[in-house]
Amino acid sequence: MRYSQLFGKTSKNAPSDADSPNARLLEQGGFVEHVMAGVYSWLPLGLSVLRKVEQIVREEMNALGAQEVFMPSLQPKEYWETTGRWEGVDVLFKLKSQTEKEYALGCTHEEVVTPLAQKFTRSYKELPFAVYQINTKFRDELRAKSGVLRGREFRMKDMYSFHTNQADLEAFYARALEAYVKVFARCGLDVKVVQASGGIFTSKVSHEFQALTESGEDALIACEKCSFGQNSEIATLKEGDACPSCGGTLKKMKGIEVGNIFDLGTKYTDAFDFNFMNDEGKQERVLMGCYGIGTSRLVGAIVEAYNDAKGIVWPKSVAPFDVHVVALKSKDEETQKLIDAAVSTIERDLAAQRVEVLVDDRDKGAGEKFADADLIGIPLRLVISEKTLAANAVEWKERGTADAESVPLDRLAALVVEWLKA
Ligand code: ATP
Ligand code: MG
Repeated sequence: MRYSQLFGKTSKNAPSDADSPNARLLEQGGFVEHVMAGVYSWLPLGLSVLRKVEQIVREEMNALGAQEVFMPSLQPKEYWETTGRWEGVDVLFKLKSQTEKEYALGCTHEEVVTPLAQKFTRSYKELPFAVYQINTKFRDELRAKSGVLRGREFRMKDMYSFHTNQADLEAFYARALEAYVKVFARCGLDVKVVQASGGIFTSKVSHEFQALTESGEDALIACEKCSFGQNSEIATLKEGDACPSCGGTLKKMKGIEVGNIFDLGTKYTDAFDFNFMNDEGKQERVLMGCYGIGTSRLVGAIVEAYNDAKGIVWPKSVAPFDVHVVALKSKDEETQKLIDAAVSTIERDLAAQRVEVLVDDRDKGAGEKFADADLIGIPLRLVISEKTLAANAVEWKERGTADAESVPLDRLAALVVEWLKA
């Protein structure tokens, strides 16, 4: 991709209403555009990151054996009355059609998935199973804030599992917890696993996944060594205590809730009278778990964890492109032709290795191009100029490190592939 052609550009000035690093950097870098409080457009750069995050989530959910579905955001009022949540959930957006019919805009999907699962479940032979989707959610948050961290319209992966007995539910829940730990590790985040109360899901057991960042809105007491954590509000332990999980020392920390999983028991299957036939031919209640990850919040949390004074420092796994080629202009026409040809060769060789490349081909000075590359935060910057070309080389600099080195053009593609794997 040529930067001159890319839809959405960096801007010199930080947005005046940005209240957090992710709000400022994602908008200034040309990743998202603020539409109104809690609502953003995702531009190609931002969408690329969001898709990578969602693909990591998808791979780990598929590895659990869950199947992907896609459910509507426009939902019948009757389902929400069935569970008692039409009145019970303060963040639920409610709509009225021109014929005065009422609908909910999904803030979560238990009301849709439970009757869906019921339709296809008769006996114990069909259980257990899990389905998930990656979809847009709507919540009437009183205060939308912190960029993409707390939106009124946002992206979420939500998975729902259905079981014949508690032991089976707990076994799947434990596997889902491990899958979540993998997802966040692949996104480069340091995450604490916090046992919590169920919130609007009012479940028996739930775990929150808290990504550690300075700017997190949740206060934690968490272990320095392992992933154990407690929410400060409900903590039974205090700073300095020994970690009950590994014996390490507990410290005060701040986190962003990036995921939450719940043992729902029969809360929703009771509401919809969802039974299965057991192996003795008797009717029994289905048990249910639900598992959420805020994928757009995750993008914001990654920015909160990975930025410096110059911009974003994306982890390789979720960067919008792998490599940012900065082509510097020459005043000499012949030299410029050689630079252009070298850039095309680099692009072609890297594309052949499935390396994603953004080329800054604009007619701008080095200072501006370097500042934009730092702001956008692609993990590897390659500079090609009159000077590097004279040595048949490019300048190689990784985002977040100060050192640059010279790399010969004929070994470049191989070295990039090696670096990407490392
Ligand atoms: P919070 O406590 O932050 O309001 P929640 O506990 O109400 O979130 P859940 O119902 O557990 O959220 O939703 C699952 C996940 O969806 C959360 O862990 C979070 O990552 C994400 N999420 C929830 N609300 C928002 C929001 N307003 N904007 C962006 N992501 C959100
Ligand atoms: Mg939650």
